[in-house]
Amino acid sequence: MFGGNLNVVKIAFDAILEGVIIIDSDAQIVFANKAIERNLGYEVNKLIGKDFYFLVPKLFQKAHKEYFKSFFKDPANLSSYNVRTIIGLHKNGNIVPLEIKFTCFEHTNRIYAQALLTDISERKVKEKENKIEKIELEEAVKKHTSKLEKVVRQLRDTNQALKSEIQKKNKAKKEARKALIAERELSQLKTRFLSLASHEFRTPLSGILTSATLISKYTTKGQENITKHIGVIKMMVNHLSNILDDFMSLERIEEGDIHYKFSSFCFNELMEIIIKEANSLLKVGQSIHYSPCIECPKIYQDKRIIQIIITNILYNAIKYSPENSPIDISVTSKNKIKIKITDKGIGIPKKDKKNIFERFFRASNATHLQGTGIGLNIVKANIEGLGGTIHFKSKENKGSTFVIKIPKDVKL
Ligand code: ADP
Repeated sequence: MFGGNLNVVKIAFDAILEGVIIIDSDAQIVFANKAIERNLGYEVNKLIGKDFYFLVPKLFQKAHKEYFKSFFKDPANLSSYNVRTIIGLHKNGNIVPLEIKFTCFEHTNRIYAQALLTDISERKVKEKENKIEKIELEEAVKKHTSKLEKVVRQLRDTNQALKSEIQKKNKAKKEARKALIAERELSQLKTRFLSLASHEFRTPLSGILTSATLISKYTTKGQENITKHIGVIKMMVNHLSNILDDFMSLERIEEGDIHYKFSSFCFNELMEIIIKEANSLLKVGQSIHYSPCIECPKIYQDKRIIQIIITNILYNAIKYSPENSPIDISVTSKNKIKIKITDKGIGIPKKDKKNIFERFFRASNATHLQGTGIGLNIVKANIEGLGGTIHFKSKENKGSTFVIKIPKDVKL
């Protein structure tokens, strides 16, 4: 076919890495290079004269025949360059994927097709691997996306739940605020009523007190019982007056309408007066042990309010202690006057301690004794109003100690 220097051409073709095959228009192999041997295992000289279809599995032979028939019929193919991927059949029966590029040429009035064959097994494996990788990647992305979607859904649900929780809380807050306002109004009303009632009680009470005092002046000797009973009436009236005083100062505290009257006075002298009055209230066998402040400090304070404060704590000590028990009072003076009042009475239950200064609060072990639960509330408000502090220690059935500290000079 080539004539001339066939050897050189053959050597050149054998040096090409791709397989080269030339077939005539009957699809018979007229030339094959060495690479074909490497790719498909056939010795080159055994291929010459063989049908090209010999190189593909039986299954595809018919399709190839038809393709070549139409290929050789169409002269346009002479100039075109065809690339196809075909399945080749190795001599050992294995299947080899091949890329085949072929063109046509004419020689001595016959048409030939020259095909360039490349084994693309590796490329196919790579493609398969890439495909698997791609699928795996897609699956991973899908998995993560669905996870993300789940998280987003959960976040959305949580957000919704939070929103409705906040709405509920806001509603509850509004209702609580309303209830608080209503309670405050009610409390103000109660205090105002108590204050008003107290004013009304005061006049008849002071009438009773004056009359009782006058009656006592008209009693003659031997009428001790009358004198005793007049004493009881006076004591009761004083007690009632104290309660009414408490009720009235409640309103003043609530309205922020306390006006203190400051003056300079000797603290020890005030204590003597307080203790003298308290002595008349002691139960049988009760006694007050008083250790005064040695230096007898002069202080600048509201004398009347300080008297109310100490009296209140001392009267509680008497009221909440049994007969035959001592009450200790000690006063010391440093930067502040410190008054310590200790009793051996019923004490305050642990659970009630935190509420003891609340208005109208009475401890669970004190309800069988008379009281209003106002005194300590007023005491605390007044002590703080005068720049002082109040603390207590107490043990149920053992006793209580109240410690009051008051600045010596309210201006400092
Ligand atoms: P009350 O009129 O009830 O005495 P207070 O405000 O003075 O009101 O006291 C409030 C409560 O504190 C009392 O009801 C009582 O339970 C308790 N308390 C106050 N002082 C003492 C005390 N010395 N010993 C035991 N309990 C006390």
